[in-house]
Amino acid sequence: MLFQTCQKYDWPIHKFECPALVAHAERRVASTKPDDGEENGNIPDTLPIPSETSREKPGSGKRKEFELMQSHREDLAPSSPQTASYTRLGHALASYVSHGEPSPEKLGALGIASAKDIVDLLSKFSTNAHTLSTPSLTPIGVAISPIAALINHSCLPNCVIVFPKAHKLPNQLEVICIRPMNPGEELTTSYVDMALPAEHRQTILRERYMFECKCESCRLAVAKLDDYVDGRRALRCARRECEGFLPLPKLDDPELLTDEKKCLQCRTVCRIEPPAIADAIRIGEEGLEKAEALQFDDPERAFKLTSNLIPLLSKFFHVGAHPLLSLSRLHLALLISQLQENSQILDETIRAAARVAAGVSAIYPPGHPTRGVAYAELGKLLAADEYVPPGEKPVEATASELDPKANVVWVAGDDGHVPRGVERLRMAHHSLLTARKELLIGFGTINEGGVVGRMVSDLAKQLEREVTIWRRAGGGRRPDPGAAV
Ligand SMILES: [Zn+2]
Ligand SMILES: [Zn+2]
Ligand SMILES: [Zn+2]
Repeated sequence: MLFQTCQKYDWPIHKFECPALVAHAERRVASTKPDDGEENGNIPDTLPIPSETSREKPGSGKRKEFELMQSHREDLAPSSPQTASYTRLGHALASYVSHGEPSPEKLGALGIASAKDIVDLLSKFSTNAHTLSTPSLTPIGVAISPIAALINHSCLPNCVIVFPKAHKLPNQLEVICIRPMNPGEELTTSYVDMALPAEHRQTILRERYMFECKCESCRLAVAKLDDYVDGRRALRCARRECEGFLPLPKLDDPELLTDEKKCLQCRTVCRIEPPAIADAIRIGEEGLEKAEALQFDDPERAFKLTSNLIPLLSKFFHVGAHPLLSLSRLHLALLISQLQENSQILDETIRAAARVAAGVSAIYPPGHPTRGVAYAELGKLLAADEYVPPGEKPVEATASELDPKANVVWVAGDDGHVPRGVERLRMAHHSLLTARKELLIGFGTINEGGVVGRMVSDLAKQLEREVTIWRRAGGGRRPDPGAAV
């Protein structure tokens, strides 16, 4: 049901413009009086469109699986936002399958006898849906898997759900275990973005899945222990080069104007102004929401927002903290979308990718596919041809720089310089190998790390050949990439 052409757009926005939905909206406008108009965009286009051929007969395997799926209809409070959304969606769905005004005969033929059945259907759909994503983790739709939906949630899961072969249809969902497990240990996946702090995750889990998460990560966040700091709410250490977490001060005490906290890594005592931190969180979260809403319609304004907010938040927060990490990811995506037309922003894009990789690796557990994808992005950007300003010559390498024993270490700072020449290629190679290691776990060794895993392996090998050719040439300019293929 997924349109190949739809896939380059992110699902949250795409669902409002999908051809399938537009066609439906036009039919509705032609056949009925539009009531509030807003409903039209609300039907996910992956819902089965009923027809004699696509309908599962009662008693069929798939139909039984669907009937057994969990519905939260009975837990819904009449006044909850979820109920309101189901009511709206239910009405739209009933007219959708009736090709006009809801028709009891047409609905009855599909086994829908009442409004209650529709709410059940919608509740099952939203409770059992997984985000369908590309091999580089761009969300492109929803996938329904009653079996995978049986896996319980944890904010610190031992499994992930991926679609390593998403270029092939049908998209096959795979559950991949990302850390060693004991026999009998329960499989868990995360239903929410792991970059979100505990209170945000809890709200989503309560509203959408109707449960209170009591996982280790949530318990620790609630317990407010002195020696535990959730990176999603961590401040940065006053020592610029330290990557340790600094605990968040109390933010709900208006009397508390200054406070002191100790860095968990280097134990440096840092002075903090809680009111400034509280302001930064509020401004950052509002800005993130605005920038996310603008990213497709007005990317320039979204870019301005992320460009202004990131330096502001970076003064206080750890690179992995929320909403700094989410802003950095959006900023990177906006930069990458401009890169093809404007190669001058390559170094800026590399700095953004390095910040995302540092943030993601501080928050996501080892082997999580998000980490591999972040390092792959960084490696790919570092491997690209450098931008050479008009009138300047490309960097040249000396024979000693090309010595395979030369050791190069580069740590990306705030305004940090981006290495050039061989040093940059070594960095690229290192990022690609890190990505490969992570992707083999996150997308599965059996899948060779998925599409991105195979891409980073190929690119790393190509760089190795390129540096060999460069060394044999005794230095000078970077060889033409074609020479290495
Ligand atoms: Zn679509
Ligand atoms: Zn939790
Ligand atoms: Zn420190």
